[in-house]
Amino acid sequence: MRRVVILGSTGSIGTQALDVIRANPDAFEVVGLAAGSNAEELAAQAEEFDVDDTALGAVEAEQLVHDVEADVVLNAITGSIGLGSTLAALRAGRTLALANKESLIVGGPLVTALAAPGQIVPVDSEHSALAQALRAGTEREVRRLVVTASGGPFRGRRREEMADVTPAEALAHPTWDMGRMVTTNSATLVNKGLEVIEAHLLFDVDYERIDVVVHPQSIVHSMVEFVDGSTIAQASPPDMRLPISMSLDWPNRVGGVGRPLDWTTASTWTFEPLDSAAFPSVALAKKVGRAGATYPAVYNAANEQAVNAFHEGRLPFLGIVETIERVVDAHEPPETLTVESLSAAEDWARATADRLIAQRAAAGA
Ligand code: NDP
Repeated sequence: MRRVVILGSTGSIGTQALDVIRANPDAFEVVGLAAGSNAEELAAQAEEFDVDDTALGAVEAEQLVHDVEADVVLNAITGSIGLGSTLAALRAGRTLALANKESLIVGGPLVTALAAPGQIVPVDSEHSALAQALRAGTEREVRRLVVTASGGPFRGRRREEMADVTPAEALAHPTWDMGRMVTTNSATLVNKGLEVIEAHLLFDVDYERIDVVVHPQSIVHSMVEFVDGSTIAQASPPDMRLPISMSLDWPNRVGGVGRPLDWTTASTWTFEPLDSAAFPSVALAKKVGRAGATYPAVYNAANEQAVNAFHEGRLPFLGIVETIERVVDAHEPPETLTVESLSAAEDWARATADRLIAQRAAAGA
């Protein structure tokens, strides 16, 4: 029986994790739940799963991680506000099932230095696929990681064809049903950029050896190429419950959690190169990943401000990545990386992004 704490239990990942647990009561026990502000749903979940310890907000969530005995903490909070909970889970010696990729990306070496080998288990379908495929060879046999991308709702469009897209169009993801931030990040491919940084930090593979390939069907969730020319891919219909279940009981597989591929009907899987001119966010992410220090945090914070501005009608779609780029270019990293200097860099990035967005709106751009 694995004792599980779920942070962000009322969100897309959190509720799907509860689906997995509901279907497997002999394998998992929920011992703690945390949400942002949705007290009503949190209370209903606590009642259903008979959980005494609940928390609202990031500070309480951190305390919950500290106080409650558990085997695994699923961090499914949205945004870099999840960093404190990630650090708390690692310090408490829990296995960290990490959906909140922002905390790893933002925290970078602060997070990886705290983590014991294998202590962080990814929830992202791509990184779960990579972790599964990596089991097919030794570290020295790995040549490159190939991260797949659905391409989002605007795949195939040229840059100028995305000038007027609306928030509703950006939220219409072709294959995955996710929260607002991550869905918008899939439309800009910022999410893929964040995932490249995440892959680097999780698996310690250089950026030169991490590729992105567009695979619109979202069946192959990522691949590992080995030195002998073999490529091992993980494939399954798109359903987050599979990688979530693996993260809760890694490296074991939870029976019946997902539906398998159907080989009785004809199907086609396609792969195409990423159009970096239309979607510059991935190249920008590699650049900030290589620069390290506070740059990934600045990329992420500027993006969060820009995405919110886009949804509030204050910034056009293309303005999201343009804003990130301008903020990144203006950034001067601090001399030492600490939780405080990271937080200051994020504050600076948010304020700078807000200023640039306001200037742009005033100029009518
Ligand atoms: P949602 O927006 O659906 O859910 C976010 C959850 O976090 C909610 O439970 C929310 O609570 C909670 N939350 C928000 N702010 C705080 C806070 N300050 N303190 C504590 N809890 C808070 O997001 P998703 O489930 O889509 O995404 C969660 C994470 O998983 C993100 O990092 C995302 O990138 C990642 N991810 C998501 C995927 C998906 O399929 N959805 C796929 C891969 C990764 P409340 O309801 O009260 O606001």
